[in-house]
Amino acid sequence: MPGKIGTETEINRILKSNKLSAKKKFGQNFLKDESILSKIRDISECDKDTLVIEIGPGLGGLTELLCEKAGFVLAYEIDNDLIEILNNNLSRFNNYEIINKDILTVDVNKDLDKYNYNKIYLVANLPYYITTPIITKLLTEVERIKRYVVLLQKEVAHRLAGKPSTKDYGAITLAIEYRGSAKVMLEVNRNAFIPAPNVDSSVLRIDIYDERKYYPKDEKLFFELIRLAFTQRRKTLLNNLGDKYPKEFIAKMLEDNNYKPSIRGEELSIDDYIKLSDYIVDKR
Ligand code: SAM
Repeated sequence: MPGKIGTETEINRILKSNKLSAKKKFGQNFLKDESILSKIRDISECDKDTLVIEIGPGLGGLTELLCEKAGFVLAYEIDNDLIEILNNNLSRFNNYEIINKDILTVDVNKDLDKYNYNKIYLVANLPYYITTPIITKLLTEVERIKRYVVLLQKEVAHRLAGKPSTKDYGAITLAIEYRGSAKVMLEVNRNAFIPAPNVDSSVLRIDIYDERKYYPKDEKLFFELIRLAFTQRRKTLLNNLGDKYPKEFIAKMLEDNNYKPSIRGEELSIDDYIKLSDYIVDKR
């Protein structure tokens, strides 16, 4: 049985023998703690019926554990220098494909069409510099992904799983809640990585609803309203929305729906935003 990749000794050996070091520009922080890697895999509950998409396999520490449990692993890695290393490290498996591309520019649906799996999960130790764009892209473009298990900066993870009126609540929280339920499953200390980042991390799991749960009359307007409501967190909803709509209209909308004029975007739930965007549709 070959040694595990996700250990301090192995990571340092692989980097040294390939004359490489972790690249900051690609957000490379390799996990060196086997027990955390297995926990991430276990939180995903992937099995042989699952196709797992991994973003940023790096040296393959998480990938090898996923290949052992999942039916197939489709991994996107931007760094050309890591592709041959990954294929060497994973040579004992035949249930994976590494795509050497930037996840933000690929058509994931097209890649998935090659494989016949119904259960599609995303499991990844994400590059921190593009966490939000990656999650937003996949949530909006790849409906087939039924579960997300992502390791990301602690502060961001808590924001994404936030509840109204907490400091962690934000526009992306609502975008996630619209499609599924999010929960922080595990806290990971910065020392579990090589190199250690400046912040701690958390594992967030998002389970996408089997059936759609929310039906705003105009989805685009609903998201636009949320975006506007959070443009300046400290401003009231009236002032944030008043930049785009006539203030008298917004004031009347709040009054008609029994909200106090001083209410702020972060105090409203997803149902409130549906009510308000439907009100605007009805008055158009
Ligand atoms: N999975 C490995 C681990 O847990 O040790 C590495 C995780 S590291 C935080 C992030 C990985 O994402 C790196 O391998 C990096 O090269 C890759 N990456 C960064 N930007 C990317 C992008 N736009 N598309 C695909 N991969 C990317």
